[in-house]
Amino acid sequence: MTAPGVSPRVFARALSAFRAAVGAQHVFTSEDDRLAYADPYSPDEQSHLPSAAIAPASVEEVREAVRIANRYRIPLWPISRGKNYGYGGPAPVLRGSIVLDLSRMKKIEVDAENGTVLVEPGVGFFDLYDHLQANNIPLWLSVPGNSWGSVAGNALDRGVGYTPYGDHAARICGLEVVLPDGDLVRTGMGAMDGSPNWQLYRPGYGPSWDSMFCQSNFGVVTKLGLWLMPAPESVMGLDFEFDKPEDLGWVVDVLAPMRREGIIQQSPSIGNWLRAAAVLTRREEWVEPGRPLNDSAIEAIRKRFEIGWWSVSVRCYGPVEINEATVRFIKRAFRGRSVLAMNEARWVQGDPPEGSPVTGTPITFPLANANWFGGRGGHIGYSPVLPSKGDLALRQFQRTYALYQQYGMDYHASFAMGERCLTNVNQVLYDRDDPDMMGRVDQFFRALVADASENRYSEYRTHIEYMDLVASTYDFNRHALLRLNERVKDALDPNGVIAPGKSGIWPASRRRRRR
Ligand SMILES: Cc1cc2nc3c(=O)[nH]c(=O)nc-3n(C[C@H](O)[C@H](O)[C@H](O)COP(=O)(O)OP(=O)(O)OC[C@H]3O[C@@H](n4cnc5c(N)ncnc54)[C@H](O)[C@@H]3O)c2cc1C
Repeated sequence: MTAPGVSPRVFARALSAFRAAVGAQHVFTSEDDRLAYADPYSPDEQSHLPSAAIAPASVEEVREAVRIANRYRIPLWPISRGKNYGYGGPAPVLRGSIVLDLSRMKKIEVDAENGTVLVEPGVGFFDLYDHLQANNIPLWLSVPGNSWGSVAGNALDRGVGYTPYGDHAARICGLEVVLPDGDLVRTGMGAMDGSPNWQLYRPGYGPSWDSMFCQSNFGVVTKLGLWLMPAPESVMGLDFEFDKPEDLGWVVDVLAPMRREGIIQQSPSIGNWLRAAAVLTRREEWVEPGRPLNDSAIEAIRKRFEIGWWSVSVRCYGPVEINEATVRFIKRAFRGRSVLAMNEARWVQGDPPEGSPVTGTPITFPLANANWFGGRGGHIGYSPVLPSKGDLALRQFQRTYALYQQYGMDYHASFAMGERCLTNVNQVLYDRDDPDMMGRVDQFFRALVADASENRYSEYRTHIEYMDLVASTYDFNRHALLRLNERVKDALDPNGVIAPGKSGIWPASRRRRRR
C-alpha cells in the first residue's frame, strides 16, 4: 500500500527520507504496524487504513517530516496519542495518509504559581497527573472519561472534562505550530521571543490564532499552553436521580439558569440508566441476545444500580463556606420537585482522594463499555448541540430515542450542560462481530444527523467517516464557512499535505473526493 496518488517508487523514496529524518526504527510500515494505527472501533477499519506511520521526537524532526511530505506530496495525519475512540482513533480520513505520531514528544513545563502548563503532544493525562503528584504541585487536571489520551490532542479536538475547566479548548493559552510549509510559529504572546506571558494572556496582539488550529488541518501543533485549576479547598455537590424520561425537561430548566449565572461552575451531564450498566455489566445479563432492552430489563438495571431513568452529578469547587452555601442554594432550587434521590457529596482537602474525573483524576474504566455486547466492541460518537431549554431537550431525547428503537440500538446518551447550550453526547454502542448490527450503524448515524439538521442542530465533533456529512450541515449562504476554510487551506497548504479531509476541509487537489 502506498500513499494516495503516489507511485510505489516515489513512496519508497519518501520512506527513505522519513527514515533519515526520524530514525529507521520510528518509521512503521508493516501490516501489523498499520493496523495498530487503524481505528479500533471502526465499522470498517480498511477504509481509513494508513500506509505507514512516523514518530518524530522533536519539533525539528516534525518540521523535516513536513518538508519531506511536501517534496513527495504525501499527506500526513497528525495525532498526539491517537486515542480518539468514538471519533476515529488514530486513523486518518484519507486512506493511505501517513500517520504523524507525536507521542514521543513528552516535555512538560508547569508554572505552579500561575497555574499553567506547556505540554508537548505526547503528554498523556496520566503523565501530567503523575508529574503534578510527584512534584507536589497543587494544580488539578480536567480529564475526559477515557483519560488514556493526550492533554494537547484532546484540547485540540475540543474535548471535554467534568471540572470547571472542562471546556478544554477554552483553556488553551498559546500554541507552537509547524505550518504546512515547515515554518514554525508561536501564537499569542509567544510571538515575542522569550515572552514570560505566553501562557498568561490569550489574545496576543492583532488577530488571535489559537482556535484556528482546533479541529482543523492548518498546522501541526508541537506545544500547547493550558490553564490548570488551582486545587480547591473543597468539592461539594449533589448526586440526583430522576424517575421518568419526561423529567429531563424540567431538570434542564432548573439547572440551566444556575449554570448561566455561574452558580454551577462545571458542566453537569444528565445521563440515562445505561451509563453504569454498559461499563459494569454485559448485555446478556439483562436480556437474551437479539432482543430489545424492554421495560423490565431497564427496571432491573435501575434496581441493581439504584439509579433513576436519568442521573446527574453537580459539583461545586472552592472554599468550604462558599460551597456549603451553593449546595444549599441548589437544593432549594429543587424544592417541591419530584426527585427520586438526592445525595450529598463532600470532599475537603485532607480527605482521601475521590479518584474520579470530577476531582481531576484520570481514569480508563469507562472503556469497558466496549464490552457491552461481547465480541469486538466499540462505539461511534454522535454529539449535536442544542439550546439549554427543557422542552427542546425533551423533544431531542424523544426523537432520538425513537430512532434508536427503529434501528434496534440501545439508548446510551447524556446531555452535558454548558454555560449557554446542551451537548447531547451519544455513544452508539455496537458489536463489530455482529454483521446484522453493523449493517444498521451507518444508516442509523445518517438518520441521526438528518434529524438534528431538520431542527437546525449539528455536531460539535464527529467521527472521521462522517466529517464531510457533518460539514455539509453547516449550510449558511451555500456553505460559506467551508469555502472560507478551504481558502485558508489553499493559502497555507497548497500541496495539501496536512490531514486532508479533516472536518470536511479538503485541499484543492483532492476536493473532488468530498462525499
Ligand atoms: C469510553 C470513552 C469515554 C470517553 N469520554 C470522553 C470525554 O469525557 N471527553 C472527551 O473529550 N472525549 C472522550 N472520549 C473520546 C476520546 O477517547 C478522548 O477525547 C481522547 O482524549 C482523544 O484522544 P487523544 O487525546 O489521544 O487525541 P488524538 O487522537 O491524538 O487527537 C485527536 C484529534 O486531534 C487532532 N490532533 C491531535 N494532535 C494534533 C496536533 N498535535 N496537531 C494537529 N492536530 C492534532 C487529530 O486530528 C486527532 O485525530 C471518550 C472515549 C471513550 C471510548
